Amino acid sequence: MKYDYLIVGAGIFGSVFAYEAKKRNKTCLVIDKRNHKGGNIYCENVNGINIHKYGAHIFHTNDKEIWDYVNQFAEFNNYINSPIAFAKGKFYNLPFNMNTFYQLWGTKTPAEAQIKIQEQKKAFGKENPQNLEEQAISLVGKDIYDTLIKEYTEKQWGRKASELPSFIIRRLPVRFTFDNNYFNDKYQGIPIGGYNVIIDNLLKDIEVKTETDFFENREYFESIADKVVFTGQIDEFFGYQFGTLEYRSLKFEHETLDIENYQGNAVVNYNDAEYPFTRIIEHKHFEFGKQEHTVITREFPDKWEIGKEAYYPINDDENQQKFDQYKALAQNTKNVIFGGRLAEFRYYDMHQIIGSALVKIKKEFNEN
Ligand code: FAD
Repeated sequence: MKYDYLIVGAGIFGSVFAYEAKKRNKTCLVIDKRNHKGGNIYCENVNGINIHKYGAHIFHTNDKEIWDYVNQFAEFNNYINSPIAFAKGKFYNLPFNMNTFYQLWGTKTPAEAQIKIQEQKKAFGKENPQNLEEQAISLVGKDIYDTLIKEYTEKQWGRKASELPSFIIRRLPVRFTFDNNYFNDKYQGIPIGGYNVIIDNLLKDIEVKTETDFFENREYFESIADKVVFTGQIDEFFGYQFGTLEYRSLKFEHETLDIENYQGNAVVNYNDAEYPFTRIIEHKHFEFGKQEHTVITREFPDKWEIGKEAYYPINDDENQQKFDQYKALAQNTKNVIFGGRLAEFRYYDMHQIIGSALVKIKKEFNEN
């Protein structure tokens, strides 16, 4: 055997695994079918601006160990995510907080805003929400739902909110402070120089082959390493034998503009149905860029089918049951470690992926 590990996928999971294995004197070959490393956190540099090619990525965590870990590989800036929503001709602050309530109703104190929300929740009056629409109204009332949730969610999932399962919205945090910080986590920021800095440092001195698809040469790849670490789609690994796991896809349209500042914020959501995209990202604001030009990206939700990028897993009962069958197979598959968002069929943030890769490493090396 030439390598201890063949790692399929040069995303954050595969890269952390490779780094940790190398640290333990193991040899790795990392392959990725895309033409770059980094998976979904990859950034493309366009005249000095780091473009988040696969959607806006903001690193955030409450876990000091993960924060310290990732800071070994890049220095972070002090970016705080404060998205704005454009809905029914007006701008609203997110997440739902005292600014949003003022913009919506003119309420000036937490007590006034609380009364307004309570009145609306009471007016709805249903005990057991049966779908996303009912769930959202029962959590925050009809005004917030109608203005800021309904049309955005319907675009995002391509289905009526009244036909979507309620579990998609378990909680809808409301804040009775004037605080536009989207995340509640203690640590947050964007790596200075973009996410590629982290990936390049993780994969330093590790052999990586891009534009290399595991399935195009499966037998060969399985023969050159003692173990495979697989971060691709688990249903594909097992030949879709229990059926295809479903996803929601996205399309991104990038545009360079010859102006300094397009929208004054990194993330502006477009809630209304009349816009086919859900948000516009202006990348320079993630890094407080001062360039004379700017690059924006419109993000369009898209139907997923095999061959398209799989972004958001649809974790409804049917898909979950299929996944459980694949998971059982995976547990009985020797010499293959499954990890990452596609192999675990789960929406994971970056900090969770790092945490999960570190747990798998400890298990692999009996360090628990
Ligand atoms: P990936 O990055 O997808 O890596 C898997 C890699 O495997 C891919 O590069 C793929 O090409 C490769 N691969 C698959 N199959 C094969 C094969 N057969 N052969 C070879 N290679 C293969 N997280 C945050 O923390 N903050 C955010 O703000 C945030 N925003 C997000 C926005 C969007 C729109 C999306 C979709 C996700 C966001 N995330 C965010 C989540 C973040 O993208 C993921 O946590 C992370 O990228 C997952 O890493 P991964 O290594 O598991 O998967």
